[in-house]
Amino acid sequence: MSAPRRVTVLGSTGSVGVSTLSLLDHAVQGGEAQVEIVALTGGRNVELLAQQAERWRPQQVVIADESLYGALKTRMQGSGLAISAGPKAVCEAAALASDWVMSAIVGSAGLAPTLAAARTGAVIGLANKESLVCAGPTLLETARAAGGVVIPVDSEHSAIFQVLQPDCAHRVARLILTASGGPFREWTLQAMAGATPEQAAAHPNWSMGVKISIDSATMMNKGLEMIEAAYLFATGPERIDVLIHPQSIIHSLVEYQDGSTLAQLGPPDMRTPIACAYAWPDRLPWPAPRLDLAAQPLTFAEPDPIRFPAIGIARQALTAGGLAPAAMNAANEAAVAAFLDRRIGFLDIASTVSETLERMEAAGDLGAGATGDVLENAMITDRTARRVAGDVVAGFSPVH
Ligand code: NAD
Ligand code: MG
Repeated sequence: MSAPRRVTVLGSTGSVGVSTLSLLDHAVQGGEAQVEIVALTGGRNVELLAQQAERWRPQQVVIADESLYGALKTRMQGSGLAISAGPKAVCEAAALASDWVMSAIVGSAGLAPTLAAARTGAVIGLANKESLVCAGPTLLETARAAGGVVIPVDSEHSAIFQVLQPDCAHRVARLILTASGGPFREWTLQAMAGATPEQAAAHPNWSMGVKISIDSATMMNKGLEMIEAAYLFATGPERIDVLIHPQSIIHSLVEYQDGSTLAQLGPPDMRTPIACAYAWPDRLPWPAPRLDLAAQPLTFAEPDPIRFPAIGIARQALTAGGLAPAAMNAANEAAVAAFLDRRIGFLDIASTVSETLERMEAAGDLGAGATGDVLENAMITDRTARRVAGDVVAGFSPVH
């Protein structure tokens, strides 16, 4: 019998983290996998993290919010498990020797831990798209240099990963990212202006964390994914397109120069791309909901650039290169937080991002950076963009 696979889940208490542990639980119960959990990290949900730790008995349990250390310690009293807290402790846990690491923290907070995991040479299942947007080339190069690999978990990129034939990668004409269009696909601009956080977070097809749900409503999610795809598959912005596909069955397509287009299909359930990233190049059986292609038509449409300007903003940031994608991501994180706090309206999210980029460009803040350290540059840019976005947000009047 082979040794258990050592697994770390960063962001285990979130939507992707919970799906990952549920999939592994199923595989272990069914005798399809042997798993030893090395570390589990959560942000603020003490109770769920404690329950996961009791089930999996990891070497290290980390709560990212330092102020919750006492609460976790009390809750885990007598468990005999090692507990730590704070962003540094998350990175230390990520650096422990594992065979497979799920990177499922939300936002640029995931960058340093994902890089720490990449340095160990582990196979990384990457859900945390923001880390790629902030420092994609460095992250991928770090993993490669350490003998590891980054396998995309984002469903679109998992789809492309599965149908992109390495031997003819140079024959790709276009990568086509599909998008559900989110909850406001058919809303008027006027209705979108008054949209509440509750309406924006109600995604029609996927059950996800709140930040990515808002990103799906603005379609900034697709903008981030365009940048993610450009780095993962070394493809320029001119060869990446977005196609609205409301049923979320076709997860993306690769068009080759000979006119052949390959697609990957599956139910809108993250456990399918997570299983793919876990087992690659094998497949991990689990009872995924079966596709019933006769049950509904598959439809497609072009995205509307007027109602969803975020895709164009991301395309511009990707084309500009340098620190523009990192700045765009941080401005978006700040704008989404402001919208959830009801400090700005829904349409102000994209305006905040573009205004932040314009101000930073004018101030010369999007250049190569003062030091050669990419992580440091990305972090400095992240902080600057959050500050500038804060100024922009302060200029809007509260809405709800
Ligand atoms: P989520 O909000 O449900 O979970 C995020 C996790 O990160 C939680 O464990 C949370 O406690 C932790 N966390 C939050 N802030 C943190 C911080 N500052 N430091 C350390 N940990 C922190 O988010 P999610 O929907 O699971 O998404 C996770 C990532 O996966 C995101 O980057 C998202 O874009 C990507 N993703 C998610 C889905 C999905 O279906 N949910 C699909 C594709 C990609
Ligand atoms: Mg996606």
